[in-house]
Amino acid sequence: MTLDLEGVLVPEIWIAFAEKTGIPELKRTTRDEPDYDILMRGRLKILDEHGLKLSQIQEVIGTLKPLPGAKEFLDEIRSLTQLIILSDTFEQFAKPLMRQLGWPTLFCHRLVVENDRIVNYQLRQPNQKQKSVAALRSLNYKVIAGGDSYNDTTMLLEANKGFLFHAPDNVKREFPQFQAFDDYPRLLDAIRREL
Ligand SMILES: [Mg+2]
Repeated sequence: MTLDLEGVLVPEIWIAFAEKTGIPELKRTTRDEPDYDILMRGRLKILDEHGLKLSQIQEVIGTLKPLPGAKEFLDEIRSLTQLIILSDTFEQFAKPLMRQLGWPTLFCHRLVVENDRIVNYQLRQPNQKQKSVAALRSLNYKVIAGGDSYNDTTMLLEANKGFLFHAPDNVKREFPQFQAFDDYPRLLDAIRREL
């Protein structure tokens, strides 16, 4: 099983971080700035202007909580099958949340950090969610995938079975081939039927 992280198991990290720190410019997302590189460079510049070091950012992220029921949901899945979280976040940002989720396996991107200052970011590869599922299938795994948003749909299409979870209405409308769920027990039932 492969699962998205933000919006599925934990809140959207940048939005929650912007709210906690009161820096509204950090609420910009790919909907406001479709060029991810421009968006990320802007975010890193804002962090720098506020003198925010990685450890301070991690402290704030550490006060965020996984979504209610997420940990129990993950524990149940991990007792049934193998699970990899595929996310477009960064290892260093996810860490405080991974701790609260019991350290599940996470594949995502990395920040380049020098003396606690974030100087750059490194994408593992373009479209890494879809490519990870393709790699798992080449190892003869049957893959069930779950995610909430546009950046998950290629992963869902590549999987043997894809489910939407907490997806906004526009994503549900555009991808009617995926069953959509909004609570963990129903999603878990659907996953059990595929195992
Ligand atoms: Mg998401």
